[in-house]
Amino acid sequence: MKLKSLPRIELAQLPTPLQELSRLGQLLGGPKLLVKRDDQTGLALGGNKTRKLEFLIADALKKGADTVITAGAPQSNHCRQTAAAAAQVGMGCELVLGGNEPEVPNGNVLLDLFCGANLHWTTRERRNAKMEEVARQLRSLKHNPYIIPVGGSNGLGALGYVQAMIELNDQLSKGRVKVDTIVFATSSGGTQAGMVVGARISGFKGKILGISIDQRSSQEPSYQSELAAIANEAAKLIDSRYEFTEDDFTVNYDYLGLGYGVVGNLERESIRLTACTEGLLLDPVYSGRAMGGLIDLIKKGFFSLKDTVLYWHTGGAPALFAYARELTEIRH
Ligand SMILES: *Cc1c(COP(=O)(O)O)cnc(C)c1O
Repeated sequence: MKLKSLPRIELAQLPTPLQELSRLGQLLGGPKLLVKRDDQTGLALGGNKTRKLEFLIADALKKGADTVITAGAPQSNHCRQTAAAAAQVGMGCELVLGGNEPEVPNGNVLLDLFCGANLHWTTRERRNAKMEEVARQLRSLKHNPYIIPVGGSNGLGALGYVQAMIELNDQLSKGRVKVDTIVFATSSGGTQAGMVVGARISGFKGKILGISIDQRSSQEPSYQSELAAIANEAAKLIDSRYEFTEDDFTVNYDYLGLGYGVVGNLERESIRLTACTEGLLLDPVYSGRAMGGLIDLIKKGFFSLKDTVLYWHTGGAPALFAYARELTEIRH
């Protein structure tokens, strides 16, 4: 397999821990619960994007880039980890943030600034156009920019999660543990695409269930077909003979609430419950929503009591502070 020979730089502390959530599992009275701690990848408070950036930043360096450009929501964890990775390798970082600039830089925005990133504020719709604009400007000043797509979700970024599945499979076989289903937050798709390719390569037989954070079941082209496209791009990069279609991806769209980044009772309650039973911190946008979905599925009897479910923690806790008001509001 060609994965080992592709350029990759070390940004994450791997392997991330695999732990049991015994108190939360007992309280819910459902399947056995495990957690894979990708909130602990270690780069500037960690998260799932660090694994993707090991391949993306290596590619940028190989291409002689001196600046990386990427985009996201104001509280993007991807942007924060990209800014930190760029700082670590001595590159410039330009972040295009779609949304309103906060009065006081908070949460991830504060950390972006600490890591030396330049911030460009625009609307969600104009993010890609703005990245191109910033790139053109840099080229005219004789810089060599490298654009990383939103969420780092292309085939190359997804390789971080191909690698992660190989890592998980090693941990499971060493611990003689069998996982029936992996549950996690899915949004720009690189994580899920990489996991599915990695499962095929490493022989992981369990189910991989993404809880959609903002993608809708009604959209065209379907989110699953986007996942298949990223997976096929990743497979090609490592000369894998596997091909993927939308049927290879399982996504639950039931927990979208009032939209991306809008905190509801689902997130408030899952964050509190996970923190007060396990001392484990989730985030209001991604991991809290995915855990809320998992808890609801357990309550509905979706899993067998004999199952082992692995919750893949993708990080995001730095955003908690930017959502302090919404998280402590009186509940309706
Ligand atoms: C980006 C992100 C996700 C979603 O991962 P994708 O690869 O974009 O699908 C989940 N959780 C957190 C905390 C994230 O920052």
